[in-house]
Amino acid sequence: MLSHPELGRLAVAHLDCDAFYASVEKRDRPELRDLPVIVGGGVRGVVTTCCYIARIFGVRSAMPMFKARRLCPGAVIMKPDFAKYRVESRRIMAKLRALTPLVQPLSLDEAWLDLSGTERLHGAVPAAILARLQAEIEAEIGITVSVGLAPNKFLAKIASDLDKPRALR
Ligand SMILES: [Mg+2]
Repeated sequence: MLSHPELGRLAVAHLDCDAFYASVEKRDRPELRDLPVIVGGGVRGVVTTCCYIARIFGVRSAMPMFKARRLCPGAVIMKPDFAKYRVESRRIMAKLRALTPLVQPLSLDEAWLDLSGTERLHGAVPAAILARLQAEIEAEIGITVSVGLAPNKFLAKIASDLDKPRALR
């Protein structure tokens, strides 16, 4: 947990799941935990999501699958299961909505939330609430998320990306 003089006053957050589809698949198949996992293929033949181990080999989202296979021949390749990701997304979004009605989802695995004025309700500043939320999502849903906290949505989104995975900036 980091400290900053403004930290107690920041209230606009961007939450982004870390390598969401790959993380859900690893959660469900623990034997894949230490292996490079690529979710993709299908119609467009590109990488949808890859885990952080696959990224070490240079694999990136939206990369053609043939290139990803060449960079990381040992990767476990899985077809996306969007029905499953939607279920997990709904569970995460419900957790956000329990903190504030001001939740704006951007995609299945990303949302802005505005925690202004919730400090008395929650008995803690937004930064503390978000740290607790991160730990809860990891414990209950089994995936990690990164959070950016800032004075506005734009900076919050940039911040959530700075220190992935499991970031809180
Ligand atoms: Mg994400």
